[in-house]
Amino acid sequence: MAILVIEDEPGIADFVRRGLEAAGFSVEVESDGQLGLEAAQRTDVQLVVLDLGLPGLPGEEVLTRLRTLRPALPVIVLTAKAAVSDRVANLDAGADDYLVKPFSFSELLARVRARLRSPAQPSSVVLEAGGIRLDVRTREATVSGQSVRLSSREFSLLEVLLRHPGQVLSQTQLLDLVWGYDFEGASNVVETYVRHLRRKLGPERIETVRRAGYRLVSP
Ligand code: CA
Repeated sequence: MAILVIEDEPGIADFVRRGLEAAGFSVEVESDGQLGLEAAQRTDVQLVVLDLGLPGLPGEEVLTRLRTLRPALPVIVLTAKAAVSDRVANLDAGADDYLVKPFSFSELLARVRARLRSPAQPSSVVLEAGGIRLDVRTREATVSGQSVRLSSREFSLLEVLLRHPGQVLSQTQLLDLVWGYDFEGASNVVETYVRHLRRKLGPERIETVRRAGYRLVSP
């Protein structure tokens, strides 16, 4: 049972780490939003304590992406912003709870325990639609029972499409979710990878919706 703390202030990160370790949790700290987001995708991470003011990727952005990538993962937001509107915005963005700095450790621990007790559905590790099956833990993909070799980017793109069955995702959304919001490579990278996937999965699996984006379809 690991708790991931994404916090760039060493004093606070240490304080939270020491306290949680003393309470018997295994704790990992990341001080950068992007690295934190990556670490949070590991299945042994059971809860995230997330600061909002982060280098690399703002905490708000980490939260939004986590809600897509691991919808059931509990996230407790640490914020210096005491304004009620900010709190409401955080909860709307999918935080399970929040604490306004400065906070006491016992307050945090109570919330961590409450979150871990509440029966959340584990984030699904096998995604299936229309004969496509992805095991996100082993990174295995099959189409109609046949194993398909995908590069890691192709896998991520297909995973995002499978997590939004029937929904049209724009190029921008796919870029954000698969490549990261600050990606500065070729602008047609989404198109290129969709083409790769069509070649491997069959051309009819991913539909182009004119001027809107792409959608995974069940044949
Ligand atoms: Ca900070």
